[in-house]
Amino acid sequence: MKHELVKPDITVIGGGLAGVCAAISAARLGQQVALVQNRPVLGGNSSSEVRVWVCGATAHGINRYARETGIMGELFVENQYRNPEGNPYLWDLIILEAVRAEPNIRLYLNTDVHEVEATGDGEERMITSVTGWMMGSERKIRFESQIYLDCTGDGLVGFLAGAKFALGREARSEYGEEWAPEVADQITLGSTLLFYTKDTGAPVRYIPPSFAKDITQTSIPIRRVIRSGDSGCHYWWIEWGGEHDTVHDNELIRDELWSVIYGIWDYIKNSGKFEADQMTLEWIGSLPGKREYRRFTGDYVLTQNDIISQREFPDAVAFGGWSIDLHPPQGMYAEASGSKHMHADGVYHVPFRSLYSANVRNMLMAGRDISASHVAFGTTRVMATCAVIGEAAGTGAALCAAMG
Ligand SMILES: Cc1cc2nc3c(=O)[nH]c(=O)nc-3n(C[C@H](O)[C@H](O)[C@H](O)COP(=O)(O)OP(=O)(O)OC[C@H]3O[C@@H](n4cnc5c(N)ncnc54)[C@H](O)[C@@H]3O)c2cc1C
Repeated sequence: MKHELVKPDITVIGGGLAGVCAAISAARLGQQVALVQNRPVLGGNSSSEVRVWVCGATAHGINRYARETGIMGELFVENQYRNPEGNPYLWDLIILEAVRAEPNIRLYLNTDVHEVEATGDGEERMITSVTGWMMGSERKIRFESQIYLDCTGDGLVGFLAGAKFALGREARSEYGEEWAPEVADQITLGSTLLFYTKDTGAPVRYIPPSFAKDITQTSIPIRRVIRSGDSGCHYWWIEWGGEHDTVHDNELIRDELWSVIYGIWDYIKNSGKFEADQMTLEWIGSLPGKREYRRFTGDYVLTQNDIISQREFPDAVAFGGWSIDLHPPQGMYAEASGSKHMHADGVYHVPFRSLYSANVRNMLMAGRDISASHVAFGTTRVMATCAVIGEAAGTGAALCAAMG
């Protein structure tokens, strides 16, 4: 085993779109940045490993004028030019090349950070190092920086550092939010696996695995849309785990999602209700796309009322425009529709005070773990918004590092 010590100005942990944009923005401002990602590819949920579509403030055309510029805009344009078909592997490459184009970024793929050292009490906590294990290389790498950005989605780094956070749904009384439940609970949005299919041009047989679920015994065929030609994100509603612990029950959640995917495909191929003779499964996700876990507490907690009233913050550094998009706790088994939406009358602001920890002095965050209530997170969580937030947080981190 090799032990290594790296001392960049800034360490960004998590290489989803938030972390990528944070790393690029800080690097362009002259800081030495380590970008540490525990998967073999960048992009988080948008990567070829999960394959979620990148959405943002335009909300599928409702706010046409609001398309993200900045680093996310560069990625969009490059993707439109080189990958108009939306091939997920080419999207991985576009993100990888954007990172590799920055001389100030050192990229650590396959490196899982799970040790954090921090000192100080109360509001004086400071992270002194984070350590990751690079899988396949037997390298244990310690990162010592002035500033750390938790872009892990699940928020493991901040948790290990003792950063304050929220998990689940706040009570309505906490922030006066109409869409919050009366009583606080631990419910989150669930996780999802997607699958791709293709027409092979010749008949293909499908024998389901023993663990495939008989979905005719569930409400799925009645309550959800199933079409033989659909692929990928059309099946965003294959969601489960909202009443479980998204992280600690990740394996259980994956197994349930797999059982349903193979069951849906059995229904499509073998029920006689679809034209699917020549269709086969081309790709099935194995890494659950997680929607929600910890949300760190910053100096400000963004709420439903801020979003809907389009509150203008003096420290606005990012914007969003997607609906507040919440899902029923039972996910795909819910009788209710798979999602409900509440729109502001246009775009809304995200303040800088929601992008740094209230008690860990040298930690910023970007992505789905920012300081927002569960309801407000329902809109800030889309990836182009996470990316814009990442660019802002990376800029803030660079200023902090430059000014000591
Ligand atoms: C099925 C599904 C459908 C969705 N639909 C949409 C949609 O249509 N459009 C849209 O824009 N958004 C959608 N979302 C929401 C969106 O995907 C997430 O909110 C978004 O990915 C959050 O971005 P992020 O960068 O914060 O986190 P992530 O994309 O989760 O990226 C975090 C990265 O950090 C890495 N990481 C985690 N822990 C560590 C660690 N300890 N060390 C190193 N690396 C670590 C992870 O492997 C991951 O790659 C959907 C989500 C799901 C699951």
